[in-house]
Amino acid sequence: MTKKNDEWKLTLSPEQYKVLRECGTEPPFTGKYVNHKENGVYVCAGCGNELFSSDTKYESGSGWPSFWDQVTEDAIERREDNSLWMKRTEIVCKKCGGHLGHVFDDGPNPTGLRYCVNSLSLDFKSKDSE
Ligand code: FE
Repeated sequence: MTKKNDEWKLTLSPEQYKVLRECGTEPPFTGKYVNHKENGVYVCAGCGNELFSSDTKYESGSGWPSFWDQVTEDAIERREDNSLWMKRTEIVCKKCGGHLGHVFDDGPNPTGLRYCVNSLSLDFKSKDSE
């Protein structure tokens, strides 16, 4: 899926655009899904691609929604990120390339991974409403 920058600007809020298309980061503890506990699926706010199940969401204390796994093996793409003098692994939506956050290896079992995601990059589909 390839959209031009001005097309994204039409469909995303300015805050979402900044995170998804310009690799921005929302301030910690401000996102609407940090303490969100409903059952369902978190999808990409840019394209609707299913990314994370609520079953893998956990309390990391970081201030961002955190998951220990992605919903399917090919939902997310990893990219090396050496910005801000750190060596990190960026995670992007595999379908639209939208920036989601980063993945770290200090998560809980069974994967040991922590997918640290901006709320602004996500929409939520409730299981109960379907
Ligand atoms: Fe996407």
